[in-house]
Amino acid sequence: MKTIGVLTSGGDSPGMNAAIRAVVRSSIYHGCKVIGVKQGYHGLINGFMDEMNLSSVADIIHRGGTILQTARSEAFMTEEGRKKALYALQIFGIDGLVVIGGDGSFKGAQKLTELGIPTMGVPGTIDNDLRYTEYTIGFDTAVNTVLDAIGRIRDTSASHGRANIIEVMGRHCGDIALYAGLAGGAESIIVPEIQFDIDNVCSKLIKGRNRGKLHSIILLAEGVGGALDIGKEIEEKTGMETRVTILGHIQRGGSPTSFDRIIASKMGARAVELLLEGKKNRALGIKGLETIDVDFEEAFNTTNKFDEDTYRLANILSI
Ligand code: ATP
Repeated sequence: MKTIGVLTSGGDSPGMNAAIRAVVRSSIYHGCKVIGVKQGYHGLINGFMDEMNLSSVADIIHRGGTILQTARSEAFMTEEGRKKALYALQIFGIDGLVVIGGDGSFKGAQKLTELGIPTMGVPGTIDNDLRYTEYTIGFDTAVNTVLDAIGRIRDTSASHGRANIIEVMGRHCGDIALYAGLAGGAESIIVPEIQFDIDNVCSKLIKGRNRGKLHSIILLAEGVGGALDIGKEIEEKTGMETRVTILGHIQRGGSPTSFDRIIASKMGARAVELLLEGKKNRALGIKGLETIDVDFEEAFNTTNKFDEDTYRLANILSI
């Protein structure tokens, strides 16, 4: 293997830059040339590629976003589009590709392996919705961003004696709500993986108010939906003024935490090693803080990671 390509695809996440840096620097360390592909599979199809060197990735480990930019590509979903991508890979002499992104991006990488280009997937998404790995790059930073928001909302909430629903990202995965809810001392955590009972949420709020609590925070995962309706129902049932805050894209930005930088560095470097060992079609992950790799198919078929023990604990601690 002489030339390794790297791209970021799908939604961006803090720590993607640390992963790019690890791919570039470890490839050069092992004597390979590195090509950076801009704008994900869209850039691959259109040949938006340049050679990268040590200084291309200087001063980026602490930056959010991705210096290679990211995109979603309809064209890459077609056989014709993927043929163009393969042609571009051949023109640039790329004989192995590291794809940093979510499960959709991994499906694209799997298709490229089928076309003869060995690929590796490094999980970059704040949602933590890839079940084969304990953590994805950007999740820890997003949880900390939500924690910061909880602190700010709690200040104003206490002054007015209000209840607050904070809707967080995660798509169909409740991990951001769960971990930020536990760490932020939320009264209730509502996630798509567990059926919730609005009367239970309301009774906690009322009990809290009756023992003099000045504020209440409810964390709601976006996958549940209906934040405004839930807020209205809570207000009607408890008589407490209830505000809804939808945090949105601020959760995707910011400087990555040390944890995200470390797992991004470990997985990016390991992806290069695996390519050099002649492996292909593998998704990188983290288990017990060790780097693991599994076949893409196994990654797609792994289910049921939701941490019910932690959910139970959060409920116990918020009685
Ligand atoms: P995020 O979790 O942040 O949304 P993602 O990688 O899952 O990231 P997607 O939009 O699902 O984001 O996928 C990114 C790109 O990967 C798509 O725009 C498309 O080009 C490619 N892709 C997705 N699914 C497939 C597929 N089944 N076959 C080929 N390419 C795919």
